[in-house]
Amino acid sequence: MEKPQPERVKKILELLDQEYGMEYRCYLNHENAWQLLIAVILSAQCTDARVNIVTKDLFQKYDTLEKFANADQAELEKDIHSTGFFRMKAKNIISCARVLIERFNGEVPRTIEELTSLAGVGRKTANVIRGNIYHDPSIVVDTHVKRISRKLGFVQSSDPEKIEYELMEILPKDHWILYNIHIITLGRTICTARKPKCKECFLREYCPQEEILSN
Ligand code: SF4
Repeated sequence: MEKPQPERVKKILELLDQEYGMEYRCYLNHENAWQLLIAVILSAQCTDARVNIVTKDLFQKYDTLEKFANADQAELEKDIHSTGFFRMKAKNIISCARVLIERFNGEVPRTIEELTSLAGVGRKTANVIRGNIYHDPSIVVDTHVKRISRKLGFVQSSDPEKIEYELMEILPKDHWILYNIHIITLGRTICTARKPKCKECFLREYCPQEEILSN
């Protein structure tokens, strides 16, 4: 498959901007950088809605990074149980909180290298932090971005890291953060995994998938 034509990419981005606006928004509730980091760790294999239910109480009980660093692991496991993979997540959260205090003065670092040195933090989590907290151009490849970027003919790979690099080549930097926000919204409402509503989709004219489906 060839690279998508720049004109088609531009048109799709324009339509997404028109439909969903240009404001940054985050689906995971948080009041500061370390809360977002913990929320993203909890969101692995879990819905954002469930994470928001859990963090509502969690961030009241553990209202400082120090409280997470000194948490009893078994108790934290219970507190986050409903998000799944609670043992690994509790272990990673405690480790992250300790390292943030010991090595980063209690601040969440900004670079990919520093962020991915934290327990349980991969490129996706690091990019969520970079985009949402620091507004550094970064492309978050989640399940919606992975699925829909392939449908739109923007990427060929199914490996998230390769997809990130493929998208970097075709998306203008000022849309790296917005792209994820827009595609999540599209993926939850129109281009759903089970049954995409191509007939109602405002991108149908420019989506190769629509051609396949209507033939
Ligand atoms: S036309 Fe269909 S496949 Fe393409 S983005 Fe819209 S809903 Fe998804």
